[in-house]
Amino acid sequence: MSASSPRRKKTPGSESAAEFWAASVADEKPVGYIVQNLERAYGEPVNKWTGWDVLDMLVAVILSQATSDANSDRTYDALKKRFPTWDAVLRAREQTLVETIRPGGLANQKAAVIRELLRQVRERHGSFDLSSLRAMPAAEAVAYLAGFRGVGPKTAACTLLFACGLDVFPLDTHIFRILRRVGLIPAKCSDRFAHEVMNRVVPAGKFYSFHVNLIRHGRKLCRPRDPLCERCPVVEYCDYGQTRS
Ligand code: SF4
Repeated sequence: MSASSPRRKKTPGSESAAEFWAASVADEKPVGYIVQNLERAYGEPVNKWTGWDVLDMLVAVILSQATSDANSDRTYDALKKRFPTWDAVLRAREQTLVETIRPGGLANQKAAVIRELLRQVRERHGSFDLSSLRAMPAAEAVAYLAGFRGVGPKTAACTLLFACGLDVFPLDTHIFRILRRVGLIPAKCSDRFAHEVMNRVVPAGKFYSFHVNLIRHGRKLCRPRDPLCERCPVVEYCDYGQTRS
């Protein structure tokens, strides 16, 4: 079934467009099998961040934007070493924060976002404790975090998936590319639509595994150019792969 299939163009009635899309791909794209095949190829990843402080993770995810994993880890460690508490970040001069996180890139923007976030969290909670999010339904927790200025759906989803183990699905450029090729999301859709579809189709408990293995798959086989479809473990479910076989 292609992204332009007439079946997908029907008016979804009372269901949301994302619900309708998710239901329409369920038969042809059994995500449970796709997850299983990727786990056979790349292993079943273990979430080593579960239990991390939620705000620590949120800041770490902000620092990871537009830089490598190694660089963002170094920047986060430098931040925690220079400022042992979030109060200390708020008390510091903004320029001191900027200099501390400069190795991670986009330091001016990230420093402004982090300080504004810390101010908002303290104002709403009276502390920096966001642990109550762990007990929230996933969609509610995403909406809550995305309500902070500077926190988008991907940042919220990463934080909640990694630190809280909630079933929410973060999408990055590489994951978008693979999901479009497979046909799990439309060729053109908003970030929000894609998140809503994926949160509906990924089996419970498999969000972390699928997220990590799609990144591995995007690096190894489903590359931006010349994907190696002939070696792909999910080619039988992939619209793009089927056109090449
Ligand atoms: S079949 Fe090709 S395009 Fe499809 S997921 Fe596999 S590598 Fe990517």
